[in-house]
Amino acid sequence: MAEDAAAPHVLLICYPGQGHINPMLRLAKRLATKGLLVTCSSSSIVRDKLAAASGVSAGGAGVPVGRGRLRFDFLDDPFEGTELDLHDFLHHLETAGPPALAALLRRQAEAGRPVACVVGNPFLPWATDVAADAGVPAAVLWVQSCAVFSIYYHFAHGLVKFPREGDDARLAIPGLPALSTADVPSFLHASHPYKVLGDTVQGQLRNMARASWVLVNSFAELERDVLAALPGVTPRPPRLIPVGPLVELVGPGQDGGGEAVRGDLIKAAEECVAWLDAQAPRSVVYASVGSIVMLPAEAVAEMAHGLAAAGRPFLWVVRPDTRPLLPEGFILGGRGMVVPWSPQDRVLAHPAVACFLTHCGWNSTLETVAAGVPVVAFPQWGDQCTDAKFLVDELQMGVHLRAPLRREGVREAVDAVVAGPEADAMRDNARAWSAAARAAVMPGGSSDLHVQAFVDEVSRRAR
Ligand code: UDP
Repeated sequence: MAEDAAAPHVLLICYPGQGHINPMLRLAKRLATKGLLVTCSSSSIVRDKLAAASGVSAGGAGVPVGRGRLRFDFLDDPFEGTELDLHDFLHHLETAGPPALAALLRRQAEAGRPVACVVGNPFLPWATDVAADAGVPAAVLWVQSCAVFSIYYHFAHGLVKFPREGDDARLAIPGLPALSTADVPSFLHASHPYKVLGDTVQGQLRNMARASWVLVNSFAELERDVLAALPGVTPRPPRLIPVGPLVELVGPGQDGGGEAVRGDLIKAAEECVAWLDAQAPRSVVYASVGSIVMLPAEAVAEMAHGLAAAGRPFLWVVRPDTRPLLPEGFILGGRGMVVPWSPQDRVLAHPAVACFLTHCGWNSTLETVAAGVPVVAFPQWGDQCTDAKFLVDELQMGVHLRAPLRREGVREAVDAVVAGPEADAMRDNARAWSAAARAAVMPGGSSDLHVQAFVDEVSRRAR
């Protein structure tokens, strides 16, 4: 198409998980808004889910977003096994992914849309190699915090030692507060049970130095100290370019008209927004543990009873895989709503929401920061532990909810955030961070300027 041929074409590719798809799609919208043709890609394993839950259709010219266009195209990488066997799936991606990406790049060129830049994902370090082989510049989108990047970098280069659980020592990493073992991403603990994930996480830095840009889902004002400290670390890490927070900016026209394009893998229960409309301002507890965390049955029961005992309306995301764990006979009594998946951006932006009981995945963390909603931080593993520390101790916009989960603990934590002596201060802090987050992505904000500089450079190299 004529318009496609005129605009530089950027291909974004991510690991096929919700926490990777969302920031990729949101970056894609920002790039399209600024005039690029953008293709989002991932393993074919998510093609059907995205089609069913979000109406995403692959191929074609895509939809207009701002001055550019947004489209989807998936790798041709049929996978016979089960996604739940992460070891097999990651091996599949490593072997089937590179030729499939090379073929995708060829297909784009043949269709008159040569790719000017590949934006990869740290879980797919091979994407940078495929781009280099095709003579295409590569970027990486880091989808965790700069703090977590710095921690992994320090561990990978032997600059700090692996903590042993129960060890009282505090880790000193420049630009970060002193970290206890509980604050460090759990994959670095010698005893963590997710070896495959731990190896993948460690492998994220593998190819990063080969990328021309390392874009980061964060913003300069939020992580100023760690961003200032990183260039002084030896050997020198790649320069991190904050382009976030990559959140949906709720409000017509704010995402260049791309609001309608969603990347949910489970269909969002839109009706919960009407339910929120019927609730009093700042009354509702919103609870979710994201797309991967599986709570044991006992914890699900304690959460159910704790939310009910908190005496406030609540909106609770219980994914279909967790639904069978709800306690038998658990009755909401009109006070609560349980949904399999929510349009979380719209929920957090809703004036009825008083607090977010969150597992502290980095996307959820940034989304609650951007929305100015205080938190009950309930991390389970991985970088969630570091994000929780950050939300509670650094940004001071919530409280911790510690394991083992007990119903009284849920009730007390919700009370503390919504009505306790510190509640007003937490809300004020959350509001201030929300203003800073929005300023960063508005025209002329720090992240907006970084996105513009990236677009300019890609366009210049494409000429
Ligand atoms: N999310 C959503 N609806 C839900 C639960 C989660 O839209 O009911 C989105 C959420 O807004 C976030 C992503 O799913 O963008 C989850 O990513 P995160 O990094 O928070 O956690 P993960 O799922 O990777 O553990």
